[in-house]
Amino acid sequence: MEEIVILSGKGGTGKTTLTASLSALIEDKVIADCDVDAPDLHLLLNPEIKEEKEFKGGYRVKIEKERCVECGLCRQLCRFGAISEDFIIDDFLCEGCGLCFNACPQKAIKMDIETAGYIYLSKTKYGEFIHAQLFPGEENSGRLSSEVKNLARDIGIRENKKYIIIDGPPGIGCPVIASLSGADLAIIVTEPTQSGISDLARIVQLTQFFKIETKIVINKYDINFEMTEKIEEYGKRKGVEILSKIPFCEDVIEALKNKMPVVEYSKGPASAEILNIKKKIFG
Ligand code: SF4
Ligand code: SF4
Repeated sequence: MEEIVILSGKGGTGKTTLTASLSALIEDKVIADCDVDAPDLHLLLNPEIKEEKEFKGGYRVKIEKERCVECGLCRQLCRFGAISEDFIIDDFLCEGCGLCFNACPQKAIKMDIETAGYIYLSKTKYGEFIHAQLFPGEENSGRLSSEVKNLARDIGIRENKKYIIIDGPPGIGCPVIASLSGADLAIIVTEPTQSGISDLARIVQLTQFFKIETKIVINKYDINFEMTEKIEEYGKRKGVEILSKIPFCEDVIEALKNKMPVVEYSKGPASAEILNIKKKIFG
């Protein structure tokens, strides 16, 4: 089973458009959306949720005022300065180490594991789809991305699938590293702008560090030929293939409005180029 991750330096470069279309074109795969902070692949795949499970985040620690005798021991012990003078725990400073919980002579401290989001297992007309949503302000997006990916792997192995197609998060943070670990191929979608080139360079550095085969797709390459040339030169210098140059195409916007993969919406120039990508990689 091969894992193909589609990445981009920032949101809005066409990463999800490409992932949705490849999901529609490729047979025998499981689809996963590892962008758990701002998932949007589901908007184009119209999933029917079959199962949902809670994603447990960190501990939430609380002092029960009615039991607390204000002895001060917990404040003394907490190395993170998370307990105020009036014995209230600051969620941002608390690391959930459990020391105060174990030490309190009055058993006045409670520790609960909080639900930080949900993982969904869905059916789509393109195959099985794993996606998730982390609640706003919650941490652990890297761990949630890993859980989404592991679930996709389990299903892929169980059902003897050939591919896992992963919509990775934008940027180079923890969830990106989680999506990349163990991948066979990273496709980086970029746009011909100055910031696009800098973002691209940061991800290529990451994929090359992890020794993952990498290919570049230049989206809307015809909006700036000079920058496109620069990306091509950059690819040559780094030994990274420019897999495709997708032209600007109004159909992409229309397909998004209609909540469907562009290859299903039209046979225009963007769809034709995505079909080429599919043939080059998956035959
Ligand atoms: S150790 Fe327990 S009793 Fe003492 S101040 Fe902390 S919460 Fe209150
Ligand atoms: S759980 Fe640890 S970090 Fe949090 S308040 Fe208690 S001692 Fe401090």
